[in-house]
Amino acid sequence: MLTRDTHGRPLRNLRVSVTDRCNLRCAYCMPEEDYVWLPREAILHFEEISRLVDVFIGLGVDKVRLTGGEPLLRRDVPALIRLLAAKPALRDLAITTNGVLLAEQAPALRAAGLHRVTVSLDTLRPARFAALTRRTTHARVLEGIRSVPRAGFTGTKLDTVVMRGVNDDELADLIEFGKTVPAEVRFIEYMDVGGATRWSMDQVVSRAEMLERLARHYGGVEPIVEESTAPADRYRLPDGTVFGVIASTTAPFCADCDRSRLTADGMWYLCLYALAGLDLRAPLRAGASDEELAATITGRWRSRTDRGAEQRLAVRDRSPLLQIGGLKQDPHLEMHTRGG
Ligand code: SAM
Repeated sequence: MLTRDTHGRPLRNLRVSVTDRCNLRCAYCMPEEDYVWLPREAILHFEEISRLVDVFIGLGVDKVRLTGGEPLLRRDVPALIRLLAAKPALRDLAITTNGVLLAEQAPALRAAGLHRVTVSLDTLRPARFAALTRRTTHARVLEGIRSVPRAGFTGTKLDTVVMRGVNDDELADLIEFGKTVPAEVRFIEYMDVGGATRWSMDQVVSRAEMLERLARHYGGVEPIVEESTAPADRYRLPDGTVFGVIASTTAPFCADCDRSRLTADGMWYLCLYALAGLDLRAPLRAGASDEELAATITGRWRSRTDRGAEQRLAVRDRSPLLQIGGLKQDPHLEMHTRGG
């Protein structure tokens, strides 16, 4: 049974953040010196996440992606994966990670029943990585990526946030690297989400520009026509290599967006740009029944009107969505809390 919102979009795709902590400080996500963290006692236990996922499954969710913060910083993620992988209704169970801790954890993630891995990789150059993330763990990320197919995973993706003057000269290099993994590379337009306090429109490289550059380099780029609610539009190069572009800034996919996000402390957000979420931890810990939780979730989804990225597109003289003051007052507005 599908639960639909006011635009007919089904509740199908749940991103579950397991921690707001991260071991990188990417310029487009966590550029500040310090952050307000979620209180430890508010973080959902794995059993609580599993119970909420069961309720979501009952309402039509069949795809779950673990994220963060950096999800692999949370202790014993395989234990959570075991709980989730045991739910036959979940047709897709994936994780998005920055890869730093992946090499040591990939075999256990696989053994626990995880289906797929997506690794964020913005550059192949160690010095550039250090400048972009303020950490020196680039070699560990590359090793982490190599460990994914070795652990037996297929369908691996590499996600790259493209920023003008930062890494936009690496598009073809990243595609070539992806071929060797093997992994499908997806280029993400730099978004003005909460946390991206240094965002500016002139640093955004549009999908159109990326495609033009890649077509020039490879001698052609052919769009793949497919029915999908995935955010990436996919393209084929003359040699058959497939890559994706997520054009959330210049061509948002709000019309088909079936995603929602659960933060590590149980706040449920229906849009990456939403300023308010619904607290599911409070009723959960107050003893609400599955039926009561389902009614709360259904009621909220049925009244969902969010088209955040489209609304941002209509803003003239676009500047960052939120300033540091507002983010410190409510860390739930941060991309690293919401899970991207
Ligand atoms: N730590 C994990 C990782 O690096 O994949 C998971 C969390 S991270 C917030 C999820 C995704 O959000 C990453 O692919 C990251 O690049 C993306 N992201 C963060 N800030 C962004 C921004 N301003 N524009 C576009 N994508 C962004």
